[in-house]
Amino acid sequence: MSDLSKTAAAMDARDPLAAKRDLFHLPEGLIYLDGNSLGLMPKAAADRIASVTRGEWAEGLIRSWSKAGWFTLPMTAGDRIAPLIGAATGQVSVGDSTSVNIFKCLAAALQLRPERKVILAEGDNFPTDSYIAQGLAALVPDIELRYFEKGDNPAAHIDDDTAVLLLSHVDYRSARVRDMAAITADAHEKGTAVLWDLSHTTGAVACDLLGADADFAVGCGYKYLNGGPGAPAFAWVNPRHVSAMRQPLSGWMGHAAPFDFTRGYTPAEGARKLVCGTPQVISLSALDEALKLWADVDLAALWAKSRAMTGFFIEAVEELCAGQPITLASPREETQRGSHVSFDLEMGGFEVMQALAASGVIGDFRAPSTLRFGFAPLYLSFVEVLKAAEYLSAILSTREWDDDRFRIRGAVT
Ligand SMILES: *Cc1c(COP(=O)(O)O)cnc(C)c1O
Repeated sequence: MSDLSKTAAAMDARDPLAAKRDLFHLPEGLIYLDGNSLGLMPKAAADRIASVTRGEWAEGLIRSWSKAGWFTLPMTAGDRIAPLIGAATGQVSVGDSTSVNIFKCLAAALQLRPERKVILAEGDNFPTDSYIAQGLAALVPDIELRYFEKGDNPAAHIDDDTAVLLLSHVDYRSARVRDMAAITADAHEKGTAVLWDLSHTTGAVACDLLGADADFAVGCGYKYLNGGPGAPAFAWVNPRHVSAMRQPLSGWMGHAAPFDFTRGYTPAEGARKLVCGTPQVISLSALDEALKLWADVDLAALWAKSRAMTGFFIEAVEELCAGQPITLASPREETQRGSHVSFDLEMGGFEVMQALAASGVIGDFRAPSTLRFGFAPLYLSFVEVLKAAEYLSAILSTREWDDDRFRIRGAVT
């Protein structure tokens, strides 16, 4: 046995989360390093969808809004997310997509400081974050969207006109983690609120929103939370803002008394006001079920496993692919790294990822030249991580990727 194999076996033997793996459906022969784009399906989620459709929907019909708890599901699911992000019960609302929640929270942040006109955002953020900010700036008179660039200290770009800073906690390409407490404190000193996108954080990376005194946060339900394709997203607002803040998508399900059918909008108390229209009950139920798997997870162990896995993958790839034109594009320092690892290739990145998929290793390719591998600590093993590195090494050294069948591109990479 090589030293790497011995390490992998030893790490798996003492993995405190090992029992969780059985709770997921793992397709035969697959090493799935894409849980940061779409997590594995929890077996219980499929059962829950079956009972929601055949029982609560088919039989219960309209009665299920109360009897099956459909009406309160946005907050029930939110309460399951709260401990993962350092928030408290009643503070997280689940529904809509991350994109829509960015819109709500950005607009709410602007309204908290109406005399300030600038949204400050990172130029290299995940595109939807910037697109939503662009849409909002085009809609609201006088609002200006300014960008800061990779490597800049965001706080250095804040001036007296900056209402809100929008940024990702974990960068979707490099996995670089931002110091939430320090950036938030710097922004507050200059009177600016911060909206954190936790899409690549929640369920894999340590996060303490209340500890950092953050203002707003949003995040994704279908990545490390395993809520299924298109699962609803979440939004959090600091309790210090919640009564003063308005969110612009003031739909009736966020009203204090939706079934009074009054003409005027009176927001619900607390984070419920972030709900817009009728909750997406089937997908929300699947997410709610997936979230139950976290109830007894030791989060310190989860975060430690994420760091150990990403570190082990870097070590294995660098050892096994020595001499190949592949370079680490993620922080080497583990405290600065989220739960995925990116490598840049000089050429053939797309084809290499396709060849890996043909060997049963699923990761993703991010143009122009990045291979990105996500490590979901809830269900992956170190033996799988090593195998993925071994396949990658074999594909690079044999140049197996350099073949027309690996050049065909689908709509989603
Ligand atoms: C995945 C992700 C999203 C997803 O947005 P949707 O509205 O669900 O499509 C948003 N922001 C970031 C940073 C992401 O990684």
